[in-house]
Amino acid sequence: MTEPAARPLRIGVFGGAFDPPHLGHRALAQTAIAQLALDRLLVIPTGHAWHKARPLTAAAHRLAMVTIAFSGLPQVQVDARETLRTGASYTVDTLRELHAEHPQAAFFLVIGQDQADALPSWHASEVLPSLAIICVAGRAATTTAKPHNEGLGATIPGALSLQMPAMAVSATDIRQRVAAGKSIAPLVFEPVARYIDQHLLYRPH
Ligand code: ATP
Repeated sequence: MTEPAARPLRIGVFGGAFDPPHLGHRALAQTAIAQLALDRLLVIPTGHAWHKARPLTAAAHRLAMVTIAFSGLPQVQVDARETLRTGASYTVDTLRELHAEHPQAAFFLVIGQDQADALPSWHASEVLPSLAIICVAGRAATTTAKPHNEGLGATIPGALSLQMPAMAVSATDIRQRVAAGKSIAPLVFEPVARYIDQHLLYRPH
């Protein structure tokens, strides 16, 4: 009798500034792992974020916080590759590298609705659907972010919708709360709040 062929590895790719990582990110990671039956979820902090207007917090801090924020999720691997690149950091380059490293794997690009709306402006966005299945989660409004279109951008070929309860949390909101001396306890994993406090991140200068 022949052995059944091993199924291809299912690898999720979850990029972001993670400045800081919050409970919305963790919920999205858990949702993606469960709904997409992922073997692995690569959490990839951005290096130079070409699409964000402000300078990001040092990569070493964001990597440390991401490691804390996704702890206890065995499928998650924090991947520093984009922070090690010089110049702009493009998802298309990351996906091409990952394909070369894992030629048999199936890739799933995990994004929130705000990023799905912005996808047409990404570098080489038209090739992304050939490199990964794009998986989109809805986002709730926060005090600093508008609600985004409900449902999937019909323009993304083959996109999947991730179902998770909308979480009204954004990193912008958290940075503003810290700067204003307000509590961020319900918005981030407690050890991340402690890290922010210990390293005096997001304080007004
Ligand atoms: P900022 O407020 O600084 O723009 P952010 O909260 O959007 O940050 P990012 O690190 O830019 O966080 O997000 C990384 C990814 O996680 C993006 O694809 C984003 O859409 C998604 N995401 C962030 N917060 C949520 C949330 N509350 N619900 C669903 N997806 C989210």
